[in-house]
Formats: sequence, structure tokens, C-alpha cells
Amino acid sequence: MAQDRATSEDRQQETRRDEVDDETISDVIRDIVEKNDPYDERVVCYAQPIFDTHTESYRQAEVLMRLKIGNEIVGPNRFIPMAEKNGSIFRLTYILLNKVCSAMKELSKKCDFDRITVNFPPVFFCNEDMLKNLCNIMKMHGTDTNKLGVELTEQALEDRDDVKNRVSSMTNAGIKLYLDDFGTGYSSMARIVTYPFSVIKIDKGLLDTAMKYQCMEELISIIIRVLKKNGYEILMEGVEDENGKKFSMDTKVDYIQGFLYERPVPLEKLENYFAPATT
Ligand code: C2E
Ligand code: CA
Ligand code: CA
Repeated sequence: MAQDRATSEDRQQETRRDEVDDETISDVIRDIVEKNDPYDERVVCYAQPIFDTHTESYRQAEVLMRLKIGNEIVGPNRFIPMAEKNGSIFRLTYILLNKVCSAMKELSKKCDFDRITVNFPPVFFCNEDMLKNLCNIMKMHGTDTNKLGVELTEQALEDRDDVKNRVSSMTNAGIKLYLDDFGTGYSSMARIVTYPFSVIKIDKGLLDTAMKYQCMEELISIIIRVLKKNGYEILMEGVEDENGKKFSMDTKVDYIQGFLYERPVPLEKLENYFAPATT
């Protein structure tokens, strides 16, 4: 647990109170879309290192978007719902992908890591152009598809052939699919199993319930065991304390992500968490 790796400035920015109003956020997003700059500095990538319980080291991270408005870093809960509603989430995601693929190229030269994941909005796979755009960005940066992961929530799991085909094309190319926030929706296993997920991310809410009620602890342990037996890797999200860590270890999850380990840091700081590259 490398608490010294994030500076106090990172933490301050990360926890800063909302001071920018919704109208300003909306204006900034509109301007980002209009300018169409793939390196727009207002789209900021943070990343949270993910602990690998097998190697006991950090080999993955999840990229989390923020907006830089003036001197403030605005968290995703303020602007993602807005951007999803007016469609600007597409542009924001392409900018984020461009920056992530660019950063991964540098990171690969210096570090030994398995994967960086990005969050795709539920509507993403309904769009005809997304695969072409994604491929163009990866090609431009020479991205190793095996090192990219895509996180989808259950909301994205449409029972539509075109959506499933795009998802399959992506995973066939080597990109790994992560089911985000497992346990927050209806968790329709019937639908989940029709998608090529590699990793299931157990939502913090489910972990918190397990920590409160014995019967939920037993139930979630069984769910994890069944998922693992069927070839899924399990990631426990939102581990904040020793109880959450113990439960994660007892249930033999593959990965742990949470404030007990590391908070999100600016993307360029990931090299401080991964082991140096062996050439
Ligand atoms: P998420 O995808 O479930 O991301 C994990 C969130 O949990 C992050 O919040 C992270 O900082 C937080 N977290 C991690 N460990 C802990 C913990 O131990 N305790 C607690 N209380 N929280 C923890 P963040 O960065 O504020 O993101 C919130 C949500 O915004 C994300 O939830 C995701 O739904 C959305 N989001 C973030 N970045 C993007 C993006 O690039 N694209 C899209 N479409 N959505 C994004
Ligand atoms: Ca996520
Ligand atoms: Ca999540």
C-alpha cells in the first residue's frame, strides 16, 4: 500500500468540493464538443490502481474521467449523466481513449502491466461508428489490444444482435470485457452469460451488504464461487477497510480495488505503481 505515491495535491484535487455550477459544466462540455480537439486539456484522466491478489502487486488500473474547469477538477458524477443525456459522452469518451492509448504507449516502454480499463457508456455499442473510431484510435497509437479492457454495466447489455456483434468483434480483437457494478441492477445472469465477459466487478454496495448481514455474506460467497468455477475472474470494488479485505481474500477474488489500497491518481502517475519493464 503505497500511500506516498499520490501527492497531497492529488488528494486535495480528488476530494475538492463542487464549486462549479451545472450551467458552467454544460457550457464547457459544449465547447469541448465544438472544438473537437482529441487532446483537449479539460478532459482529465485519473486512474485507480487495482491490486492483483495472486501476484500481490498492481498490474491493472481503471481510468476514471474528470473535467478540469479553471483550477477545479470536477468529478464524473457531476457531468457524466449530463453528457449521456445530450450525447456528448461520445466525444468525451473518444478524447479519453485517445489520451489513454497515448499514455499506454509510454507506459509500456517503462512498465510491466497487464491491462488498463476504460468505462464505456451504455449507449456506446448501439452506435454504428464506434468500432471504426475505436480501431482508428488504437491504430494511431499502436495500442496492444490485449492491454486494453472495457467496462460495461448491465444497462448496456441490450438483447440486440448488432450490439452483441460489436462487443464480440472487440473481444475477438483481444480487448477484455469487464462487467461493472455487478449486483446493482437486476443482475440477470441469463443476459450476462450471453456476453463474453472475462472479469466480473462486484459492486461496493454488494460488499457493504455482505459486511452487514450474515446471510448476504454467505450468498455472495456462493455467487463468487460459482462465477469463478465457470471461468470468470472476480474483482471486488470499493474495499475500504480490513473487513472488506478479509472477505475478499477469504472468497479468493482475483483483484481488489478500493481506497484501502489506492485512490485514483492522475494517469501519468501510474508508472509509480507498476513494476519496471523487464527488457
Ligand atoms: P465506477 O465505474 O464504478 O468507478 C469506480 C468509482 O468508485 C470511482 O469513482 C472510484 O473513485 C470509486 N471508488 C473506488 N474505490 C472506492 C472505495 O473504496 N470507496 C468508495 N466510496 N469509492 C471508491 P469516480 O471516479 O467518482 O467515478 C464514479 C462513476 O462515474 C464511475 O463509477 C463511472 O460510473 C462513472 N465514470 C467515471 N469515469 C468514467 C468514464 O470515463 N466514462 C464513463 N462513461 N463513466 C465514467
Ligand atoms: Ca467502472
Ligand atoms: Ca464499478
